[in-house]
Amino acid sequence: MSGSESTAPVIVAIDGPAASGKSSVARALAARLGFLFVNSGAMYRAVTWSVLKAGVDSSDPDAVAAHLRRLTIGCGVRDGQATVTIDGDDPGEALVTPEVNDHVSPVARVPEVRETLVARQREYAKLGPLVMEGRDIGTIVFPGTPYKFYIDASREVRDARRRRQGLDDDLAARDRQDSSRAHSPLIVADDATVIDSSHLTIGEVVEAVLADMRANGFETP
Ligand code: C5P
Repeated sequence: MSGSESTAPVIVAIDGPAASGKSSVARALAARLGFLFVNSGAMYRAVTWSVLKAGVDSSDPDAVAAHLRRLTIGCGVRDGQATVTIDGDDPGEALVTPEVNDHVSPVARVPEVRETLVARQREYAKLGPLVMEGRDIGTIVFPGTPYKFYIDASREVRDARRRRQGLDDDLAARDRQDSSRAHSPLIVADDATVIDSSHLTIGEVVEAVLADMRANGFETP
């Protein structure tokens, strides 16, 4: 299927492990194309922030699911980017605290959390073309899109990126949990294009993505 034959909005799925560079690439690509940028990890982080704030045990799936049912999750758009609020509150910088980093994977493996957030992620496609990044965008959220990318980088490079960001994040633990969960684990979709960003700039990865999309029928606006 080529982008020009389809009337459905173009969806670019970008998956990969933590600190692989996928967020920077997805944001830059969305800006370049004038597409909506959706960071699905922020949605899992927002629910985790709320779980922690309420003193709910993140390792208890039933307690997390019960907490989720009480929440009003607001998914909006501001300045071309998806936004998320919980009961009207914007968690802001609290999304990237060490506490949220440590607890997001157990929260994200709860089936009810995934079902709820995947449904909200799919709703964004009603607004028009988008670039969405996460762990399961090409495999579960939008498996039908022809534009799927898996951005990877070596452990050394990913650790160095986190250190430069000044963020305390046990990448190995998070990767292990995200890749081993029963529901929608982090895996490379059969039909995804894998790009190793270890020795590439963000601009170079964006160009590689665009070249692949064009080869796959996409006409750059
Ligand atoms: O992308 P980011 O590192 O912010 O994602 C935080 C966490 O959210 C991941 O480690 C993973 O547990 C979860 N996540 C997920 N599925 C997605 C996006 C994120 O399970 N599509």
